[in-house]
Order: sequence, then structure tokens, then C-alpha cells
Amino acid sequence: MKSAEIRDAFLKFFESKGHQIVSSSSLVPHDDPTLLFTNAGMNQFKDVFLGFDKRTYTRATTAQKCVRAGGKHNDLENVGYTARHHTFFEMLGNFSFGDYFKRDAIAYAWELLTEVFKLQKDRLWITVYAEDDEAFDIWTREVGVPAERVIRIGDNKGGRYASDNFWMMGDTGPCGPCTEVFYDHGEHIWGGLPGSPEEDGDRFIEIWNNVFMQFNRDEQGVMHPLPKPSVDTGMGLERISAVLQGVHANYEIDLFQALITAAARETSDADLASPSLRVLADHIRACAFLIADGVIPGNEGRGYVLRRIIRRAIRHGYKLGARAAFFYKMVPDLVAEMGSAYPELVSGERRISDTLRQEEERFFATIENGMAILEDEIKALKKPPTQHIINAGVGASSVVGEPVLVFNGETAFKLHDTFGFPLDLTADVCREHGVSVDTVAFDAAMARQKEQARAAGKFKMATSLEYDGAQTVFRGYEVLEDKGSILALYKDG
Ligand code: ATP
Ligand code: MG
Ligand code: MG
Ligand code: MG
Repeated sequence: MKSAEIRDAFLKFFESKGHQIVSSSSLVPHDDPTLLFTNAGMNQFKDVFLGFDKRTYTRATTAQKCVRAGGKHNDLENVGYTARHHTFFEMLGNFSFGDYFKRDAIAYAWELLTEVFKLQKDRLWITVYAEDDEAFDIWTREVGVPAERVIRIGDNKGGRYASDNFWMMGDTGPCGPCTEVFYDHGEHIWGGLPGSPEEDGDRFIEIWNNVFMQFNRDEQGVMHPLPKPSVDTGMGLERISAVLQGVHANYEIDLFQALITAAARETSDADLASPSLRVLADHIRACAFLIADGVIPGNEGRGYVLRRIIRRAIRHGYKLGARAAFFYKMVPDLVAEMGSAYPELVSGERRISDTLRQEEERFFATIENGMAILEDEIKALKKPPTQHIINAGVGASSVVGEPVLVFNGETAFKLHDTFGFPLDLTADVCREHGVSVDTVAFDAAMARQKEQARAAGKFKMATSLEYDGAQTVFRGYEVLEDKGSILALYKDG
């Protein structure tokens, strides 16, 4: 099945179970300051779950555009490293607003997976929230999944492993215990069951999350029961497509082939399995869809996340040999691939291309000099004597306890300030060399510059459009968020 057919099959299945097919909402959340980008299918129904909004239907199904880059669910650092994460992806979902609850949700999920999609039952593993005996019993007694294939997982508050069976949209908002379905891609792939030390591998891939929405979490972390228990589910279209197309990585499915070929064409890279091509194929989707939904590259908030994704893409193109704007040339390939499902790509094509090209031209003016500094510094670090080596477990790509090479935070700041290298871009390059960035020194340099600007009274007089003081202040905040995401690598639900 092609991914377009899988999308349709999902929606039709739930339509046949009385669900209203609802269109995807924008990637820019409507009237919700707690959310950077739409990160799940339930976002557009948040107020329905909370009881503030009513619809004419109590069951809905969607294929929702999602972006997970920045904010609570941030997968930017995973792209290019795992088989299963994108910045932009489509989440297939079914929703019950005070209608059915655990029993039907689980039965529907099993029916779709094993009867419509005909997945092998002995490849499927289930997790339930540790205390959720009801869900455990439904899976084992009613659906008939052997008890040894149903794993109980708690809410991972600072726990050792990544698994977390209590889903939250953000720090506040609707939330509840969940049950997830994992697919075993086979023992030739590294990875362990959820809740095990090897769970971050890509052998057992989570395909579907069914959340039993029961609470609204407030700023103090207090859980208030929702007016009516509800259901919210999410299945990544790219992940289920990989399973149904018999491939392991999402990047091997039909939808990505044209994009990877386009990336290779524009950078003249012949190795179609190269991680940089996957990053480009991923990032063109995120960038184009964000621009189509009205985000423009800038120095703060959503615009800065978009700029970071674009610059990361450019850096990967640069690594493959591109020396002038190339990324925007992938837009027609994306429109050809996804334009019929998402007409906003067709109507926005010109604007998307122009926006990307301008941003590329701007960054290509500084990337060469910046990269030279970055690479020199890394080379110097790698040269013995190794007085730079410290024993810290913070390195993104290091094994805890191993020595870690640390990139100078002052230099990272200079790259940021003078050459427009977002911290995560520098960290991404460093990670390829097994080097981590001293973010504490980076933050200190940022704070010092702010202080100097303030003392010199230059705050309002800054002339550079891109790097004026006021904007630097805000980027400091973004950077803090970055740091969190780098250090919390693989640690989200
Ligand atoms: P993972 O543990 O693999 O990071 P998750 O637990 O963070 O996934 P959920 O928040 O439960 O994901 O989202 C519901 C579903 O959306 C997942 O089961 C998966 O199929 C899909 N999904 C989540 N994040 C991504 C992503 N970055 N790229 C592609 N699909 C994703
Ligand atoms: Mg999950
Ligand atoms: Mg998960
Ligand atoms: Mg995740």
C-alpha cells in the first residue's frame, strides 16, 4: 500500500465506525500560546476535551500535519540519527469526545492493525500505564494478547529510560494514561523492548499511541478531572507505512523516495542512504509546510525555529558540496509528491521557494567562514595532547562515563553572533565528531554581551537588522530551550 492509500484506509475505517472525517488544522496553533507548533492530532480539539467547545459530532478522525521541533515534543536532534523521527510528519488519529472509552478504542486499534492492515500478531507488543489494570485486562482478556506481550510502564518522571505511558500535550492541558502499540522490526536491528535499557534502538518501533484523556493539568501541575473521559489516538503515517511496505526506516517508504532523489540531485551525492540526504528530505517538508502555514524565518519564536531548520538543512547540503542556494530547488519535488493531499503546497509554492531562496542566499554569505572556524576548532580539539578532555556525561553522542571532547562555548557564541550559526547547528556538526558543546560558557557569553550592550546604552541603537540587542535577548531564551533539547536527547515520551 502506498502511504496515500494508508492515509485513506485509516480515515475510511474510522468513518465506518461512525467518526466524522475532519481536515488537518494549521501547523500554527489557533489561539494557543502554550504551543509552539501543532504537535499532535488532538491539538485542534483541545477545547472540546476541556469541555469549553462543542462539536456536532462526538467521534472524529483526522490526518494531522505535525511539527516536533522545539517545545515539549522536540525531535529535531533525532532527525538523521533514528529510523523513526521526523520534524514534520502526519499523525493519523481517532477521537472520542465523551463517547467511547478504553474498551472500544483498544478494539478498534487491534481490528485495524490485524484485520485491515493484516499485521502479524506476534510482531506486536503493547505497553499500558503501570496502574491501568483496566487497559491491561482489555488487552489480555478481551483482545487475547498474551500477557507476556503487554508491558506496564509508569510515568517517567526523571526515570532511567525514555518510555512514558502518561501522555501530556505540553506542560499544561489535557493529559492521561495511554497504551501504545510497538512493532518488532526483527532481531537484526539493534534495540530493546520499551522499559529496557536498549529501548532507544530502532528494533521495536512505537507505531500507535492511544491516550485516555482524563485530566487537565494546570500550571502548578495539579490534575483536574475532565468533564468526560475521552480518547485521543495518534499513529505516525510514515511509521505504519514503513511496516506495511516492509521496510525498516521511515525514509525508505514511497513518500520519501522522490525527496531523497531530489536532495541527491541538488547536492550531487550518490549515496542514497546518506543521513544528510535524509535530513534534507525531512527538513524540506517541515520548512515548506511551515511557510505554507504562514511562518517566516526570523529571530524569535516560531520564525527562529524555522530559520534553525533551514540553516541546518543548508549545512547538510554544504557538507555534501553545495556552495550556493539549492534547497529551494527541492520544492517542486515536494509539491509533486504531496500537493494533492495538501493543496496549500500548490497555492503557496512560489512563496515557499522565494522564502527559502532568500534565506539560503543570506546564510551562504557567512557559512563558509563559519564552517572554517568550526572545523579548525574541532581539529584542534582532536589533536593530542588531550587536555581538553573532561569526564562528563553530557556529550550527545557519547557513552556515559567515556571521555568527552568539549567544544569551546565562546567560539560557539561567536559563530552564533557573527556568522548566524544557531547553537543547535554547531552542536549538530560537533556531534558528528563525537564532540559536545559547552553550553554553560555559551550562555555566559550571551549574557555578557547583553550586559555590555545594556551598559553601553546601545540597546536601541543597534543597527544590524539581524543581530540587534532586543532580538538577541529573545534568542537567549530560544537557546536555553535548545540546550534542554540537546541534553534531553531521546528522553521525551
Ligand atoms: P517516540 O517515543 O518514538 O519518540 P512518541 O511517544 O514521542 O514517539 P507520541 O507523542 O505518542 O510519540 O505520538 C503518537 C505517534 O506519532 C507515535 O506513536 C508515532 O507513531 C508518531 N510520531 C511521534 N513522533 C514522531 C516523529 N518525530 N516523527 C514521526 N512520527 C512520530
Ligand atoms: Mg508515544
Ligand atoms: Mg514514545
Ligand atoms: Mg518522541
